[in-house]
Amino acid sequence: MISKQSSVAVIGAGISGLAAAIELAHQGFKVDVFEKNECAGGRGRAFEESGFRFDMGPSWYWMPDVFEQFFNDYGKSTSDYFKLIRLDPSYQIIFHDKRIVIPADINQTFDLFDQIEPGSSAFLKKFIADSKYKYEAGMNEFVRKPSIHFKEYLDWRLLKSVFKMDLLTSLQRLISRGIKNEQLRQCLCFPVLFLGAKPADTPALYSLMNYADYILGTWYPEGGLTKLFEGMHALAVEKGVSFHFNAPVEHIAVEDKKVKGIKVHGEVKLFDAVLSTADYHHTESKLLDKQNRQYSDSYWQNRVVAPSALIYYLGFGERLENLMHHNLFFHSDLNKHISDIYDRKVWPSDPCFYVCIPSITDPTVAPEGKENVFVLVPVTAGIVESETDKSRIYDGIINQLEIQTGQKLRDKVVYKKEMSVADFEREYNSFKGNAYGLANTLFQTAFLKPKLKHKFVNGLYYAGQFAHPGPGLPPSLISGQISAKLLIKEFNA
Ligand SMILES: Cc1cc2nc3c(=O)[nH]c(=O)nc-3n(C[C@H](O)[C@H](O)[C@H](O)COP(=O)(O)OP(=O)(O)OC[C@H]3O[C@@H](n4cnc5c(N)ncnc54)[C@H](O)[C@@H]3O)c2cc1C
Repeated sequence: MISKQSSVAVIGAGISGLAAAIELAHQGFKVDVFEKNECAGGRGRAFEESGFRFDMGPSWYWMPDVFEQFFNDYGKSTSDYFKLIRLDPSYQIIFHDKRIVIPADINQTFDLFDQIEPGSSAFLKKFIADSKYKYEAGMNEFVRKPSIHFKEYLDWRLLKSVFKMDLLTSLQRLISRGIKNEQLRQCLCFPVLFLGAKPADTPALYSLMNYADYILGTWYPEGGLTKLFEGMHALAVEKGVSFHFNAPVEHIAVEDKKVKGIKVHGEVKLFDAVLSTADYHHTESKLLDKQNRQYSDSYWQNRVVAPSALIYYLGFGERLENLMHHNLFFHSDLNKHISDIYDRKVWPSDPCFYVCIPSITDPTVAPEGKENVFVLVPVTAGIVESETDKSRIYDGIINQLEIQTGQKLRDKVVYKKEMSVADFEREYNSFKGNAYGLANTLFQTAFLKPKLKHKFVNGLYYAGQFAHPGPGLPPSLISGQISAKLLIKEFNA
């Protein structure tokens, strides 16, 4: 039982740390969050420069039901903290010979598929119906389980649904069976690139992402994605959580297989429990003494880590033509780029990339008449920085932007900041500079992921994009909440 107000140190103020802190404080725990950076948001924090406000990481607000449910759990709504706008069209994909614009209305999407590949909407209708089932079963049943042990899944109702979840076939294979057109195949495969593995290695279970995309839609919080983190931070403060920024945790103190506290700025602070949302590898290998680690170096070296990213935050001195809020540049060979990331592990020779222009929707993120442009190129995690390759890739990006907008843009860049692999390592203690955590392959799903609870140190819990249910804002948020619930249950036992 919580006889006194038990104290918990949460490491990290990203979305999973915020979610965990809110749940713990809501249940009466005394919560202190320690964050190495200057504000909340983690990989999703924002910065302002020269009149531009850039979201540093996430830009796709998908699965709005998950965020709404989260705030509802604490008697609030997302609308208490920010205003959501549904984007229509949702986004466009730019191929070498055409653009495919994905509308918000699914019936228009069915028509679009038929125009490109006659009859393909029949497959798409069945595919979306199946992905709805996977989304509902997945989000209501599977992802909310702590997944400490496979026995949690030994329930006939759940087992029956496991067979309908398409765990044993890959998403790529499922899509290839029904769609011949390579560009439409890429339209359906792209959402799982967010989950960190090749579509060929991602179980077809994750077509639930296509339901999120085509049915639940692409949303944008007015003011930027940072509004989500500001909202969660405000809710945490309302619940009494104390935040310590610029406070990197140096060590987790353990005595007789029980957590004692943490060391920050050279000082040991005592806590009844610790919940770490820093990259799992960092917590294990840098914050715990060797005898308290659960996973060996070779375990980590054998994990499929999600890609890192080369990002440019660009301010342009004029508005850009012919582009949308979200633009996927699949003008070159996507399969070759995927192979450069996962197989050859080299800097991509002619990469596809993603361009987000929030100033098209939101005038508050750029000075009047200027454009806020975020460009992301997925690159292999752990790759050695190469100024030559980065400058070649940057040139290619500007060339493509000029081709697609019909504007001369090279000299119109009024602000430029780069973020790359080494920055991810430095900024977030990220393993191999990964951007999105641990990939959702079959053997890194559910109880096969690193555990939410330490196997033999009492009072030590984990959450975030390395743990169950996986990468992305909605899963990381759920991860924080279920890890906190596990901690609460065990403290109350
Ligand atoms: C470029 C990019 C684009 C993305 N795009 C999307 C998107 O569009 N939509 C989407 O849903 N998801 C997206 N994601 C994924 C999503 O942002 C992440 O999955 C999610 O934010 C991870 O949250 P987290 O809490 O697990 O980790 P983090 O946000 O990394 O939080 C962990 C925190 O721990 C802190 N920390 C680390 N070590 C210590 C220490 N020793 N002491 C104290 N603090 C420490 C870090 O500074 C960090 O703030 C994107 C990610 C990136 C990087």
